[in-house]
Amino acid sequence: MLMALPIRIKLFSRHWPHDPEVRIIQKTKAMTKSIISDMDGVIYRGKALIPGANDFVQRLLKSNVPFLFLTNNAEQTPLDLKLKLEHLGIKGLTEDNFITSAMATAMFLKNQKENATVYVVGGGGLINELYNVGFSISESNPDYVVVGKTTSLSYEQLKKAVRLIDGGAKFIGTNPDMIDPVEGGNEPAAGTILAAIAAATGKTPYIVGKPNALMMTLATRKLGVHPDDAVMIGDRMDTDIVGGMEAGMTTVLVLSGVSTKESIKAFPYKPDHIFNNVGEIDPAVL
Ligand SMILES: [Mg+2]
Repeated sequence: MLMALPIRIKLFSRHWPHDPEVRIIQKTKAMTKSIISDMDGVIYRGKALIPGANDFVQRLLKSNVPFLFLTNNAEQTPLDLKLKLEHLGIKGLTEDNFITSAMATAMFLKNQKENATVYVVGGGGLINELYNVGFSISESNPDYVVVGKTTSLSYEQLKKAVRLIDGGAKFIGTNPDMIDPVEGGNEPAAGTILAAIAAATGKTPYIVGKPNALMMTLATRKLGVHPDDAVMIGDRMDTDIVGGMEAGMTTVLVLSGVSTKESIKAFPYKPDHIFNNVGEIDPAVL
């Protein structure tokens, strides 16, 4: 807030008192920050809606606060995520409200190399995004081995990924999450599969998802806001909060997912705000 003050004064002095309408718009803009929110552990946990999540989304929609869901989930497309939320009772969102680590991975790789070939260990959402940027899937000397979470992981896929990386394919991960919280406990996620391939190849993957700044930049660019004017809401200290903090955003930890009040103490950084769940958050006052 302190850092934003001189900018606001400058804006006021440039226009005020000549154009009071401009002054009012700028004041409102400076006070309402855009919201970038994680999904897993924030909006739902597995197939269960987190208490207050629907109220939170409806408040966002009514308030006209610019917002985006930024998820490390690379298994599903924005349409899958929209339909999943609708199934859980959250209506009113569009595909444009979501950025996934699969989208970020595809955009990153496209910037690196046009028309590349990839071998994918991952779900339909990841394959779809890679097709969308003009990549083709190949098991013969691909440029990249791209790895995300998939619940249909097989030993054969692991073996193929290891041999292709040994043969020179570049090793890419969609997101570093070791586990995902679901009803009844945790399940192994992309990081666990990446760790297995890293152990077998001795190579370290380049990982695109949160906390990589690529994801944060993609979100603020899409919203058209400076990170100072954005809030990152998430359930994980090691992805959402560190990523948001390093990007210069206000950070909000919710205790409905992975990180607990106890586990926060082990980190050298802290969130700006902590809530039990998103139902407690008023986007207008962050
Ligand atoms: Mg999460």
